[in-house]
Amino acid sequence: MDDYDPASMDAHVAQQHILHNITSITEIETVAIRESLHRVLAEDIHSKINVPSHTNSAMDGYAIRSQDIPDKDYKNLNLIGTSWAGRPFDGVVNENECVRIMTGAVMPRNTDTVVMQEHVNVDGENITIDHKQKAQQNVRQAGEDIAEGDVVFNPGKFIHPADIGLIASLGIGEVKVFRKPRVAFFSTGDELVSIGTELKEGQIYDSNRYTLWSMLTRLGVEIDDLGVIKDTPEAVEDAFIRASESADIVITSGGVSVGDADFVKTTLEKLGEVNFWKVAMKPGRPLAFGKINNAYFFGLPGNPVSVMVTFYIFVQAAIEKLMGHTPKPRMQLQAISNSDLRKRPGRVEYQRGTYSLNDNGQYEVTKTGQQGSGILRSMSDANCFIYLPMEGEGVSKGQTVEIWPFDSFI
Ligand code: AMP
Ligand code: MG
Repeated sequence: MDDYDPASMDAHVAQQHILHNITSITEIETVAIRESLHRVLAEDIHSKINVPSHTNSAMDGYAIRSQDIPDKDYKNLNLIGTSWAGRPFDGVVNENECVRIMTGAVMPRNTDTVVMQEHVNVDGENITIDHKQKAQQNVRQAGEDIAEGDVVFNPGKFIHPADIGLIASLGIGEVKVFRKPRVAFFSTGDELVSIGTELKEGQIYDSNRYTLWSMLTRLGVEIDDLGVIKDTPEAVEDAFIRASESADIVITSGGVSVGDADFVKTTLEKLGEVNFWKVAMKPGRPLAFGKINNAYFFGLPGNPVSVMVTFYIFVQAAIEKLMGHTPKPRMQLQAISNSDLRKRPGRVEYQRGTYSLNDNGQYEVTKTGQQGSGILRSMSDANCFIYLPMEGEGVSKGQTVEIWPFDSFI
């Protein structure tokens, strides 16, 4: 029970505290719709047109007047022309007449019904239909998708590919979105060296800046990578001041555990208001959160897996709120564990695993090898977290566990 700490903070409480303290960005910019992908809408989108703009055919077939559908048996209609998509038939359709029509083509005047081409008999210009046709069938009404004046989206909408298509279908080329959050980050630690340098004894390559860069890039924020900062009070203070000058969020990794050089704490106390927590979770126990100048500050632990877990659990939702949208609930599934999973009671654990669907239609999950906080391979091989709740000592092979697919973090 070496690191069991009854005074530690509940992960959910920490999460709520963080979210509660984040204020969304209110500055707005106008961008081309392609630039709005994965941004947050800052205005109502009204439709200035009907979609579809004209009543048109949903099928390849024959446009007719519903009055011409026979009560019984068959009826012959005279073919008088064709309505192509984008090239309407410009005549009028009278009694006992019909027009060949393509999918998406405008319904000719007087017609209200389309008979599928598979349901007619064609003999030159003589088209035979039967009594089974229904009035108004196979027709898309103007404004059926969106009517002129409809509010299509409200502010706070997170923009997906389909939304961009929908906005384009209204003929709108630019939208107002909230400014992107600016995130500055750096690594701390005298043992860290950058790629391209030969490792001396006791040195390691800095990997956290690369995972942080990747997770942040996927969220679409503006990134300011400040590099590796040496463990000296001057270097750390200077980095914090530089980072907080223009960033909305400052993220560091390392230097927040007990036993780390105290000056990180002292520097932060001097520059802002920061809480140091021992969160009842593994990985990711030490965590600092607060403000430096106008920037929110996250001091993540140094271990590579802890950085990723604390980012997904605490930082990502904070960035989403800052961007102006409601953090989306995470997908949770039940899966049968193929592994014995041991844990200590009194903390939640985010173990890493691979899940798949078995032949019985149930999810199964297998843990990805050693689960140490420094073993990045356990994340790299995984496609989900295995969430083990506070109480309990884990599960045995064959029992059911809760999993959080990584896909739902994107
Ligand atoms: P710390 O929280 O500073 O005590 O770091 C905990 C562990 O994570 C130590 O083994 C560090 O060497 C390692 N670590 C800290 N920062 C990084 C980094 N940027 N990249 C890879 N490992 C790191
Ligand atoms: Mg360190």
